Amino acid sequence: MPRAYLGLGGNIGRVKENIEEGLRLLRDSENVQVLATSSYYKTAPVGFVQQDWFLNIAAEIETALSPYELLALCNDIEQQLKRERLIKWGPRTIDIDILLYEGFESNSNKLTVPHPRMTERAFVMIPLQEIAPELIIKGQHIKDITSNLDNQEIRKLTDD
Ligand code: AMP
Repeated sequence: MPRAYLGLGGNIGRVKENIEEGLRLLRDSENVQVLATSSYYKTAPVGFVQQDWFLNIAAEIETALSPYELLALCNDIEQQLKRERLIKWGPRTIDIDILLYEGFESNSNKLTVPHPRMTERAFVMIPLQEIAPELIIKGQHIKDITSNLDNQEIRKLTDD
């Protein structure tokens, strides 16, 4: 079965709970096996300082779903979490992105893989490097990509 890497994150409300719930829904899907998840990472909001901090993780999965089916599942989980949230605690958000999907590349607007700009973002690359330290992305070793991102503030969450 193909492997894929997902990025999960957000910055509104109880993000950690939202990500945990997102992972639970992924694990519940019979066509997805979650192989590894990274630590939680906090990144400072840039620009709009009133915003909450961002929280992000990366997950490695194996899946029988095609890339577009996987996208539909990710969107569906985002919607489910948004709906629950509207009822329980007011607006919350979570974002689930397909970062990489083994043997698949696409440039369409609906699904761009590898995820565009992922290699410029410490909050995507640092969690990803934790679970896939030897990954090659667009011909570049992940450690060479992250070494260029050390000006971006990101901290591993340790209080859990
Ligand atoms: P956003 O809510 O800003 O994350 O945007 C979600 C939209 O981005 C969805 O409608 C997807 O069709 C599109 N999209 C394009 N490439 C990807 C990707 N690699 N992973 C997730 N969504 C993607």
